[in-house]
Amino acid sequence: MKLSPESLMMSYGYKPELSVGAIKCPIFQTSTFVFKSAEEGKHFFEVAYGLKEKQPDEELGLIYSRLNNPDLEILEDRLTLWDKAEDAAVFESGMSAISTTLLEFLKPEDLILYTTPVYGGTDHFISKILPSYGIHTLGITPYDTKEEVLKQLKQHKYGDNLAFIYLETPANPTNALVDIGMFREIADECRENGKEIYIGVDNTYMGPIWQHPLEHGADLVLYSATKYIGGHSDVIAGACLGSKELIGRVKVLRTFLGCMAGPWTGWLLMRSLETLKVRMEQQAFNAAKVADFLNNHPLVEKVYYLGNLGPEHGRQYDIYKKQCKSDGAMVSFDIKGGEKEAFKFLNSMKLIKLAVSLGSTESLAEHPASMTHSDVEPELRERMSITDKMIRLSVGVENYKDIIWDIEQALEQVDALVVR
Ligand SMILES: *Cc1c(COP(=O)(O)O)cnc(C)c1O
Repeated sequence: MKLSPESLMMSYGYKPELSVGAIKCPIFQTSTFVFKSAEEGKHFFEVAYGLKEKQPDEELGLIYSRLNNPDLEILEDRLTLWDKAEDAAVFESGMSAISTTLLEFLKPEDLILYTTPVYGGTDHFISKILPSYGIHTLGITPYDTKEEVLKQLKQHKYGDNLAFIYLETPANPTNALVDIGMFREIADECRENGKEIYIGVDNTYMGPIWQHPLEHGADLVLYSATKYIGGHSDVIAGACLGSKELIGRVKVLRTFLGCMAGPWTGWLLMRSLETLKVRMEQQAFNAAKVADFLNNHPLVEKVYYLGNLGPEHGRQYDIYKKQCKSDGAMVSFDIKGGEKEAFKFLNSMKLIKLAVSLGSTESLAEHPASMTHSDVEPELRERMSITDKMIRLSVGVENYKDIIWDIEQALEQVDALVVR
């Protein structure tokens, strides 16, 4: 019987007999591990540095917590289950997972193709830091067709040097979808020129439950585990998942950059994973109720929510049907008016917290144009409909009636502001 990931989150990869019978994996708050003998120490190093093959049933010997630690290894094994990945690497932040991965797969003169806007930190890393290492960049929008992308590659001076495709889907904060399979085709066609082109997908918005990029042709899946995976707004962490070969490469660079997650972070995330599915399902259920309320409110001009997609949305709807297993818990909306009305709404909330971040147990709201996306070029912001009237909600696990009550009373405050 093949058990579901949610049934395995409490026990997978952990042996109580190795920890005096403790039902939960303890926090191995230790920097180094004692070898039983010099011969054992030598063997562990030989395996760790790839000089010797690991025996099929052999556990990797514990050496030093920058290389390995039980809290990280067990967490990594559990994380692989949702995405059906061969291996995973965890990091002390989503940004360190992303930056380490990009540095491993991109070399001077290479070109990275990426969807815009991506997460602000990622955008800064790609557009400001990678070029200082001689890496070329090409940003496209989620709405570009295959022909349009190929044309832009052809016109780009370094289009033949394409080495990495970096996607974020759904896009933040508009929920615009990117077709991962289409980029697989593009990578395969461009690869005919010779070298490997890897596809990495930031799955923070939908994963690891509602979207599995590896199934659609991605090579690597990236997470800010700070969001749904951590889920309690109390830890910063990240992860990268993929084949044994590719994650092996990422782990080597992680060892030398020293950006692995610590044991306490590992333990917190293991604890969070036990409730991941119930939390995410409740959040998606609540988000559907919230979106329904917003869809019918006279002070709301437009709602950006995956559940609102229908056949009339053409390609976006096709991608949604193919890639998304849920409508998610992120709902953005345009309020009638502009920044004044949006700020009045945000300042009037009583239950929902005014904060960036997402995917947590508590509901959060923020103003993308002046906060998370204030760095995005005005022209792109306009093109992606990120205007002063937009508010982004991350719906939590509270009673949905209370969330709606809060939104309703805040909208009443906005209404009072406008003299009609
Ligand atoms: C938050 C976030 C990141 C960055 O992760 P950190 O854990 O804050 O370093 C990357 N991508 C997306 C989509 C995010 O939401």
